[in-house]
Amino acid sequence: MKATRLTVVSNRLAIAVDQQQKGQWTIRPGSGGLVTALGPVLRDRGGQWIGWTGAGGQAPIDAAFLDELLANGSRETGYTLRPVHLTADEVQKYYHGFSNEILWPLFHDLPSRCNFDPTYWQVYDRVNVKFAQAVAAHTNGEDYVWVHDYHLILVAHYLKTIGVERRTGFFLHIPFPPLDGFIKLPWRFQILHALLRYDLVGFQTMRDRRNFMDCVRMLMPQARITGHRHIAHCLTPEQEVLIGAFPISIDFKQFAEAAASEEVQEHAWIIHANLPERQLVLGVDRLDYTKGIPLRLQAFANALERYPELRGKVTLVQVVVPSREEVPEYEALKREIERLVGEINGRFNQVEWTPIHYIYRSLSQKELLAYYRTCEIALITPLKDGMNLVAKEFCACSIDNNGVLILSEFAGAAAQLHSGALLVNPFDIVGTGDAIRRACFMDEGSRRNRMAKMRRSIQRHDIFQWVNAFLRTGIHKDLDQFPRAELFLPTAEQCGSHGKLEDPLSGGRPQQPGSSLAPPLS
Ligand code: UDP
Repeated sequence: MKATRLTVVSNRLAIAVDQQQKGQWTIRPGSGGLVTALGPVLRDRGGQWIGWTGAGGQAPIDAAFLDELLANGSRETGYTLRPVHLTADEVQKYYHGFSNEILWPLFHDLPSRCNFDPTYWQVYDRVNVKFAQAVAAHTNGEDYVWVHDYHLILVAHYLKTIGVERRTGFFLHIPFPPLDGFIKLPWRFQILHALLRYDLVGFQTMRDRRNFMDCVRMLMPQARITGHRHIAHCLTPEQEVLIGAFPISIDFKQFAEAAASEEVQEHAWIIHANLPERQLVLGVDRLDYTKGIPLRLQAFANALERYPELRGKVTLVQVVVPSREEVPEYEALKREIERLVGEINGRFNQVEWTPIHYIYRSLSQKELLAYYRTCEIALITPLKDGMNLVAKEFCACSIDNNGVLILSEFAGAAAQLHSGALLVNPFDIVGTGDAIRRACFMDEGSRRNRMAKMRRSIQRHDIFQWVNAFLRTGIHKDLDQFPRAELFLPTAEQCGSHGKLEDPLSGGRPQQPGSSLAPPLS
């Protein structure tokens, strides 16, 4: 089988479908690390993305209408969007249930947050069959099927079950837990066995890969692992599987150039002017208990308490991007964060200084980059994180080389950025408080040296290198060897009336058609 086209499969498509008012649906670009990572790659090379639209949890949407919406959306995104439709029950049990109440907390070393409801497994299994059927219907032997993340672990297994031979790769964006965490999973054998049905399984770090291989060695004595370098080989009774570590990255050049743009600089000045004469410490996180936000706020308060010289001189800008708000646990986390922000601000506030500047919303790209540029220090302290792209984006945008990164040693990014970042244990409030003070007083030479090191590393290992490393291992191919998409500009009529891409960040204005759009490949 020669793979000449890339098919990406993930839980969510790279867009979101929303209902503004009854019967009025819009498409908007999705957000998050995966979209940031793969969007440019598929757009430049032509390809397709199979995934759930995000609809189905709320009001039902007519499938034919949705397909039309997406067909028009495909012209805007530049690659073909293939929707997988989920029922409300499937959304509840496969997505909120098995994926986010079991795999997410367990894989982030938080088993006490797991809800091992057995009905979740049945629906997770069924939805993975649905995805496998969609892959079977929309691909042929020339496709390389690249499946992403913990929602879709069983896809290759079900492709094989229905007799469909494809070259497949799987990348896990979240951490893989150590053996003593993983064995708590009631479906541990099914999950391990399914992962070993891909031709290539990729992890974020060598630590994740080692955890996985420990589990295979312990739980699957019939599998034999050889090779300890970058790529290991696992021989099972059914097949050979490659296992590697591929730390995901960002489009460094795009971030660095955008950060230098006049528009971002202007916005950065506005932020600076409103928070003058102090060092700004930035936290940017999705609302999630793995991000360690309450402990971080406590560490900031601890630094203010023990180092009075920081008072009036340092402000923490904490951005929290709303996520999974309908889940009571997340709602409770939001309340906890807001309580702590209020308490700390009430305790240390001075006439012209508020310690924490709290933002609870999604930022536009321009705003986010302006914060990356204005803030001298980034405080990124997840309890556990697959990678953490915010850490890399902050460095890419630190174009004057004067930013300081305080980073959790439990973020995947720490493996790459350890020599430039100030590493902290996020559970150690005092240690993190000390790191905040150290960052604030770090001399310019050290700042520049450390940041330059990190920026060089991210530039060298950018998102394109990540994709190439995975594809080279999976199919001995570079991105360059995929056929380049033919470029064409659709007319207004071709865009149709339903499929206007609305940018939520531009006040709902429809976007202009892009300049690098690929015809749908079918
Ligand atoms: N981000 C965003 N909107 C915001 C703030 C951040 O889209 O208002 C993006 C940010 O640029 C980054 C991603 O969200 O690419 C967060 O990725 P990360 O790996 O740090 O964490 P995740 O949310 O994927 O766990």
